[in-house]
Amino acid sequence: MTEKPRILSGMRPTGPLHVGHLEGALENYLSLQAGYDCFFMVADWHALTTGWADVSAMRQNVLGMVADWLAVGLDPAQAVIFRQSKVLQHAELSTLLGMLTPVPWLERCPTYKEQQQEMPDKDLSGLGFLAYPVLMAADILLYKAQVVPVGQDQLPHIELAREMLRRFNYQYCSRAAGDGKPAPVFPEPQAKLTRFPKIPGTDGRKMSKSYGNSIGLSCQGKELETQVRAMFTDPAKVRKNDPGHPEGCVVFAFHGVYSLAELPALEADCRSGALGCVDCKRRLKDRLAARLAPIQERRAKITEDHCQDVLQAGNRRAAAAAEATMAEVRSAMNMD
Ligand code: SF4
Repeated sequence: MTEKPRILSGMRPTGPLHVGHLEGALENYLSLQAGYDCFFMVADWHALTTGWADVSAMRQNVLGMVADWLAVGLDPAQAVIFRQSKVLQHAELSTLLGMLTPVPWLERCPTYKEQQQEMPDKDLSGLGFLAYPVLMAADILLYKAQVVPVGQDQLPHIELAREMLRRFNYQYCSRAAGDGKPAPVFPEPQAKLTRFPKIPGTDGRKMSKSYGNSIGLSCQGKELETQVRAMFTDPAKVRKNDPGHPEGCVVFAFHGVYSLAELPALEADCRSGALGCVDCKRRLKDRLAARLAPIQERRAKITEDHCQDVLQAGNRRAAAAAEATMAEVRSAMNMD
């Protein structure tokens, strides 16, 4: 029987998940979990790289995220669901990779400067933030993941992980038969580029809880209605029958995900003025409610104890895989 290729992916537990997470990352996770040997990581150390100053909601965010994952359909019988900080080998491998990673590699990483500009309210001058691509490389290499699902912006990090593993294999592993060194420890991971459907926030910016423009997975009833009603639409379409321009409209972008079959008719009716924004939003609200209701129903039945059990079992499985790799790493570096 051929083994399934292994995948490692993680999400930061920074607060309740929203529909951007659902239609991007989580739908992708669901499509991967049967065909791959999946390790899905609650990346709590990564959350600290930008959110170290306020850890008050960490425990609740970790358990909440696992509950959301389970409600969406991630299956601990198929995938290993674990918490990064409970598998200490991540820290060990990160430390060792840090020894051979030049600081300029990290300073040149595009997200380093970008995120500092995007988050002026956070102190991102710490070593943890600079070195987070090293931790990410450790996450991937620890499980010898062959495939890493990423968005376009994460590609430089995968390349950096490859640079680190090449250095490691070159330095500590066999380069020629009979040189007395062990076989290369790490396989090269391949990025699996995921094209997430683009769901903007209700105000047209990137969807983010910190912008107050997200639609949470728990959003329903009056709250959902208010959120959809507040969505940014074509400012030129003032009256119901005015011709609209759907290209800049947030509601239309959502319909592109939730009303795909009707999209051509919806676009034509918006442009001709046959469809008014109030009606268009009402249709979207109904679609969103239908999409979220079964998830919310399942979520209501998931207890914290169950999430703890899922994590504990996943942590054990992840630690076993991680320790097998670390035994090879320590041996290659004469640290055993
Ligand atoms: S009718 Fe719909 S798509 Fe057109 S501008 Fe209004 S909300 Fe947007």
